[in-house]
Amino acid sequence: MTALEQRLSQFYAYVARMQHYREALALMAWDLRTGAPPKGVSARAEAVGTLSEDVFAMAVSERMEEFLGELEPVREQLDERTRALVRECRREFDRNRKIPRERYREFVVLTTRAESVWEEAKAKGDFLLFRPYLEQIVTFLREFVEYWGYEEDPYDALLDSYEPGVRTRDIDPLFRRLREETVRLVGEIAGTGRRPDTSAFLRSVPPDRQRELCRWVLDVIGFDFEGGRLDETVHPFEISLNPGDVRVTTRYEPGDVRTALFSVLHEGGHALYEQGIDPDLAGTPLWTGASMGIHESQSRFWENLVGRSLPFWERYFGELRHRLGPEWAELTLEQFYAGINDVAPSLIRTEADEVTYNLHIFLRYDLERALIAGSLEVRDLPEAWREQSRALLGVVPEGDAEGVLQDVHWASGSFGYFPTYTLGNLYAAQLREAIARDLGDWDGLLREGELGAVLRWLRDRIHRYGKLFDPLDLLRRATGEEPSAEPLVRYLRNKYGPLYGV
Ligand code: ZN
Repeated sequence: MTALEQRLSQFYAYVARMQHYREALALMAWDLRTGAPPKGVSARAEAVGTLSEDVFAMAVSERMEEFLGELEPVREQLDERTRALVRECRREFDRNRKIPRERYREFVVLTTRAESVWEEAKAKGDFLLFRPYLEQIVTFLREFVEYWGYEEDPYDALLDSYEPGVRTRDIDPLFRRLREETVRLVGEIAGTGRRPDTSAFLRSVPPDRQRELCRWVLDVIGFDFEGGRLDETVHPFEISLNPGDVRVTTRYEPGDVRTALFSVLHEGGHALYEQGIDPDLAGTPLWTGASMGIHESQSRFWENLVGRSLPFWERYFGELRHRLGPEWAELTLEQFYAGINDVAPSLIRTEADEVTYNLHIFLRYDLERALIAGSLEVRDLPEAWREQSRALLGVVPEGDAEGVLQDVHWASGSFGYFPTYTLGNLYAAQLREAIARDLGDWDGLLREGELGAVLRWLRDRIHRYGKLFDPLDLLRRATGEEPSAEPLVRYLRNKYGPLYGV
């Protein structure tokens, strides 16, 4: 073994150790959210805190600094996987070490408290309760972006931790174009005065039957139950422990089966991604998605582009109706399809349809950018929210619980996260067009139930690479294109035009 080989094996063992801590943390998080007994929660939180501190310390240790110092100068001699691994470790190291340790600790304490205050403020609809915390969070972040550094826009330093290498200058033209087209389309749809009759969905389906339905639909899209499981939670999520253990949860709303069905398709999309990453990347931080945006592209792909499409249900509606039970015998495919594609501006982002959804993101993106830039102050935020909501969605929340307080992201300090949801929608539409170019007629693939071929394409072009490449690189490799709003604009127009007769 050469000296370099020896060093590399120590480095790999070191990062594997960090991954083992992360697996333990993920399992503890899953357990906390899926039914850990309430009396155990506070002791568990302590244990989570200790393990998190240890793994954080390893990421910023002198040992890590030594590894990076030795491996970076010999980059050219390293294989692709090791080069990407060094890049990732460097990113994490810099991100954490550039902030004075004491300030970072204060920030963690602040956001932990802010989240519980936010919860109370939201329940009471009282922004003033939350305001001092949000003011401090914004102050911290304005300070942090200076430590991290940026070229043009301070917001870029925040965006970079969720969408590496993507800047506001990349996003702005895409969002502008999508915004224009979406506002026009939503206006035309509203102008028809048409709303689908969704009363058929508002009948009770027992949780057991919903669970069976969810297992079935996961199976249809290719979820591997030998390497994963499905559980029930209030807030559905996907969490990955290791390549053979990828878990999803969903929620069974007794009076509307759509909730369980589409959240399991969404989380199932995230899970297919994780189940498809090359196991060679396991034991390293590359065994994860390329970015939040790419991850979201996979969940939206299965939830919306497949799961809310007509050809998919032309193939599977009969089976679905049969599984729903005899009381659903009268429901027609047309009613079902219209009912899962009801478009109307609303106040709550997480309940928005796929057309108006991005408008909720534009609103948040503009406001959080202005807060970081200092052109908007927290005290003026609720009013700014109402104005933007009126301008973009044409609806204004009565209270702040349905407005500025509705999402947890700002309370947890996650500024720069929101745009990744819309990036996910944009990437997904680009992937869909690329698949149609490679495999032939999209509708035909879905109608014939050729989901295996679609999944194989995604595995081959996206999933297996994990975090080897930055998101835009990965997108270019998969589609041969730069990021663009046109595929999503075309998709929305071609789908909703006929559906609403506009
Ligand atoms: Zn998601």
